[in-house]
Amino acid sequence: MTQQKGIDPPVVVVGAGLAGSLLALALARRGCRVEMVGAAGPSATALSYAGLPAAGIRAWRELERCHGPLGLRPSCLVLHGWPGPLRHLPAPVQALPTALLPFGRVDAPTLTAAMPRVLKRAGVARQETGVARILPLQGGGWRLLDANGGALGFARDREGVRHTDAVPQLVLAAGANCRALWPALPERLRFSWAGVIELDPAVLIAKGPAHPWLDQALGGRIVQPLRLRRPSLESAAAGLHEERWIVDAGLAPRDGGMVLGQITLVGPDPDPSRPPDPAVMEARLRSGLAELDPHLATLPGRYRQVPVTYCLQGPPLAESVENAAGLWVFTGFSGAFSVVPSLAESLADQLVAAVERHGGT
Ligand SMILES: Cc1cc2nc3c(=O)[nH]c(=O)nc-3n(C[C@H](O)[C@H](O)[C@H](O)COP(=O)(O)OP(=O)(O)OC[C@H]3O[C@@H](n4cnc5c(N)ncnc54)[C@H](O)[C@@H]3O)c2cc1C
Repeated sequence: MTQQKGIDPPVVVVGAGLAGSLLALALARRGCRVEMVGAAGPSATALSYAGLPAAGIRAWRELERCHGPLGLRPSCLVLHGWPGPLRHLPAPVQALPTALLPFGRVDAPTLTAAMPRVLKRAGVARQETGVARILPLQGGGWRLLDANGGALGFARDREGVRHTDAVPQLVLAAGANCRALWPALPERLRFSWAGVIELDPAVLIAKGPAHPWLDQALGGRIVQPLRLRRPSLESAAAGLHEERWIVDAGLAPRDGGMVLGQITLVGPDPDPSRPPDPAVMEARLRSGLAELDPHLATLPGRYRQVPVTYCLQGPPLAESVENAAGLWVFTGFSGAFSVVPSLAESLADQLVAAVERHGGT
């Protein structure tokens, strides 16, 4: 098909989680045509505690100023596991050392519910489908195939008719599935499995007399260990010969509910399409929660798990992919809710410069 004069093909972003969505908004704000392709599958964003230190709060205030409510809430970090006799202090007292630090959170269900509306208002087109393969084309650009091998089309004329021409600039923001789409991504990109229990709302309604930890999360605070074990497990992942898991026992509020978590599992042979046995993972998580408080381990709720990307060392991947002209990657964050807003802005600048350099062809 021929390209119409003056109408650039869109920058295409694969993945509609935190990374893909904020990048699409940053591109749209720069006047760039952008189209997202997002599968309705598991997403780390939807399950996240989404805790924010002070610097992150400022970025989300700015996002809400541009796009309306996205779920930013005031919060507080309650740390447990203090050394020595301090560990036996009541939860509200354990909260005191961190209570005055500015801390926030983004309510993940509110963000997830708001985003389709926000993207539409910003002019971002969206296809709700999975990308099974991406193919570099001989004349330059990329073709995206669905699970049936059909080429995805993208709107590129004034009538919005979809054409299956090459996509000149393609961004992978598909979380743990980025590597399945382009295996030659840098080695430092890894993922772990993260699991939490979503409490039945009825548990909170019928909670009964004061409960030290549930009350903290009901007050909008995030409860977690003073020393998180996840970062050191993840950094040891490259040398592992068998699966290993840890529990960082804690609670995180969500509007109208709460999650208990978090179990983290890493393995030597990562493949996001082979999830660990959920029954085994839930039992492990409950035994870890019992160490914080036996009552927490017995609460009814639904176990859910997702793969979450991170980078072994060095910065996250927010860059063009080596030896793959027109292909970009945006994943592998630590503290995603704090860093993605500013990284999305700088990656959008680089993408717009590439579009201007190469035009729409
Ligand atoms: C329990 C838990 C607690 C966390 N707590 C925090 C916290 O307190 N603070 C913080 O900053 N971060 C936290 N995180 C991490 C943070 O949530 C993630 O790093 C972040 O959400 C990753 O966003 P993403 O867009 O890269 O990936 P995802 O949210 O996983 O999005 C990827 C999207 O791509 C889609 N997709 C995948 N494959 C394809 C395909 N082939 N075609 C089309 N679409 C595809 C998926 O369906 C998904 O929607 C937490 C995570 C978890 C699980």
